[in-house]
Amino acid sequence: MTVTVHDYYQPGWREHTHTCPSCDWQGASRQMEMELHDEQTEYSCPQCEFPLLIIQHPDLAAVQAAAAAGNVEARQQLEILAMAPRA
Ligand SMILES: [Zn+2]
Repeated sequence: MTVTVHDYYQPGWREHTHTCPSCDWQGASRQMEMELHDEQTEYSCPQCEFPLLIIQHPDLAAVQAAAAAGNVEARQQLEILAMAPRA
């Protein structure tokens, strides 16, 4: 089953161990194949490419809210956004 993480800043999704329903591979997101899209990042099984994890990217409001709550990664992302030209 594919797990979708709606809140990028929720702790633990990187370390969570997933079991591939297709080939029984087990591991965390760091061992998976990562594919970056505009709206989301997809992690798939390194053995059979079954999609295991979909991380929805936070919108600006979510980044700002997390930064305001003290999330270090969100603060760094806001700094990067402040330097980037607006699309
Ligand atoms: Zn697999």
